Amino acid sequence: MLLPHQALQDAAVVPSQRGHARDEAGPWHAEAVCRRDEAGLFFAPSKEPTAARLAREEAAKRVCARCPVMVECREHALLQPEPYGVWGGLTAAERRVVLTRRRRRESELQRAAAMPAAG
Ligand code: SF4
Repeated sequence: MLLPHQALQDAAVVPSQRGHARDEAGPWHAEAVCRRDEAGLFFAPSKEPTAARLAREEAAKRVCARCPVMVECREHALLQPEPYGVWGGLTAAERRVVLTRRRRRESELQRAAAMPAAG
C-alpha cells in the first residue's frame, strides 16, 4: 500500500508526472509525517466498507493535521491532481470539490475581466 509520499516515487506514476511532482514539490515530502505511518491510513484497500473508509479517512486527517507540510502536500495533490487517497487532509472527493470551486471562481473572474467597463 502506498502512502502519499511514496506515490511521488512510485514507478506506476507517469514519468513526466513524476518529474513534475518532484519539481513542484521540492523537499516538502521529506518532512511528511506519513513517512513514518505504517497503518495504511491514506489509501483505501479494495472493497472497503463505507464505515471503515470514513473512520480510516478521519484517522488519516488527524495525521495530516499535525503534519508540517500539509499546505504543500494539499497543493501538490490539487495541482497534479492526485485521484486517490488522503493528501493534505483532504479526501479525493473533497479535493474534487475544491477544484470545482477554484475552476468556477477562475471562470467568473475571466468573465468579469472580459466585460466592457461600465460608464
Ligand atoms: S499532509 Fe498528510 S498526506 Fe500530506 S504529507 Fe502530511 S501526513 Fe502525508
